[in-house]
Amino acid sequence: MEKIIITIDGYSSCGKSTLAKQLAKQLNYIFIDSGAMYRAITLYFLDNKVDIKDTAAIEAGLRQIKLKFVNNAATGQSDIWLNGENVEKAIRSMRVSNHVSDIATLEAVRHFAVAQQQAMGQKKGIVMDGRDIGTTVFPKAELKIFMTASIEVRTHRRYDELKAKFPDISLEEVKENLLKRDLIDSTRKISPLRQAKDAITLDNSRLSMPQQLDIATGWAEEILKKTQLATKNHQLR
Ligand code: C5P
Repeated sequence: MEKIIITIDGYSSCGKSTLAKQLAKQLNYIFIDSGAMYRAITLYFLDNKVDIKDTAAIEAGLRQIKLKFVNNAATGQSDIWLNGENVEKAIRSMRVSNHVSDIATLEAVRHFAVAQQQAMGQKKGIVMDGRDIGTTVFPKAELKIFMTASIEVRTHRRYDELKAKFPDISLEEVKENLLKRDLIDSTRKISPLRQAKDAITLDNSRLSMPQQLDIATGWAEEILKKTQLATKNHQLR
């Protein structure tokens, strides 16, 4: 059966990863959270005091970083590992959230992450979420979704998600971080957060998770049908 590439981009905490994960499961595709890669790089840079104004130090730091996604049997989720260590929890801290967007503006960091993301999609059958997946990583993806939701909805969702792991967190702090990251992400020089021209908008402010999954699955099935028909017609020619 033909496989496609599905990209899900959008502002921080729109629920991109949740949808991407569920959609990948439904289609039996690989799910990749590209944000986790930028977060893991940030964790390494912070822990190892890499000076982000020093290009040579950035490049030397990147050469020390090995990232991989490993299935977690206990949660059924795919966790990110940095140099042999599961850093899934550490990368969600406010310490990382407060620095990740600045580090994600660096050219060497983007090249490092994008090359690995493109390699993961070589065989298609992948759902990847992020900021520049439909514009830079997979500009030819068959289905591109651009997710949005109001800032209030996004703040509450992120806060609810984080407060179990980090009890000291405040709603105001979460909102401030989301707005700051959105601003840096959409105004940076390299691969800014933009809606690709051929991306479909999905505003999930008032949608439940099953509703958004239904909509996205419908779009994917429609494209899969067309792709299969095109292949059949090509073979008949
Ligand atoms: O998706 P998540 O919110 O975990 O991403 C963390 C940060 O990583 C984003 O705010 C953005 O600065 C950066 N990022 C990026 N490009 C991507 C994915 C994430 O620049 N494709």
